[in-house]
Amino acid sequence: MKKLNQMYEGKAKKVFETDDPSVVLVEYKDDATALNGKKKGTIQGKGAINNRMTNHLMKMLEKNGIPTHYVEEINDRETLVKKVSIVPLEVIVRNVAAGSLSKRLGIPEGTPMRRPVIEYCYKCDELDDPMVNEYHIAAMGWADDRTMADIAGYALKINSILTRYFHEVGVDLIDFKLEFGVTTDGKLVLADEISPDTCRFWDSRTHEKLDKDRFRRDMGGVEAAYEEMAARILGD
Ligand code: UDP
Repeated sequence: MKKLNQMYEGKAKKVFETDDPSVVLVEYKDDATALNGKKKGTIQGKGAINNRMTNHLMKMLEKNGIPTHYVEEINDRETLVKKVSIVPLEVIVRNVAAGSLSKRLGIPEGTPMRRPVIEYCYKCDELDDPMVNEYHIAAMGWADDRTMADIAGYALKINSILTRYFHEVGVDLIDFKLEFGVTTDGKLVLADEISPDTCRFWDSRTHEKLDKDRFRRDMGGVEAAYEEMAARILGD
């Protein structure tokens, strides 16, 4: 498949048209941002790790009955995916209190919760991705009730599959962010990425952070954390 015009450049990825109107090519960058773009930097090797880890996990999820946008990995940084119209929501799933939930509710990071929590944020950089609920989503027409029921069902199923999967390599899945899209033939699929940029991973034994929080919080050892996750998931 031919790589044609660039359609879009985001904070961590570029998207290109291909000669198939239902397929686009995603190119992962080493660029990192945090605090909604206010903090900028580079994480050497991140693009390749996030690309390969996302593809590995999407293939595994497909085998477990989750429809995804994944088509084919082209090389370390480039992957073909189904073209989708993105549902403009960040779907966050949490197992242990951390990050913005800890701040908002005054619950110390690391506090386990009785059951998983799903949160939705409206994807809008100018507004800093405000949190919304199902009533806002239906009222604004961002997604219909059927789509939201499917998204919530997939999000919880993905959480159980990933939690078990990461547990086997000694990693606790604290929380993560998903995005969904609708393909050109109208099917809801998991899109975007699943990587240390979009998940909180803590070593099960030492509770060491193995994710983007090391960059967000200037903790050092950022590249080493991404490489450690690649070693555990991809075996390299
Ligand atoms: N997350 C993300 N993109 C965002 C915001 C959050 O991938 O724009 C992920 C983040 O990595 C974490 C989870 O979603 O795994 C929950 O993030 P939180 O709401 O705690 O926000 P943060 O404290 O990371 O800003």
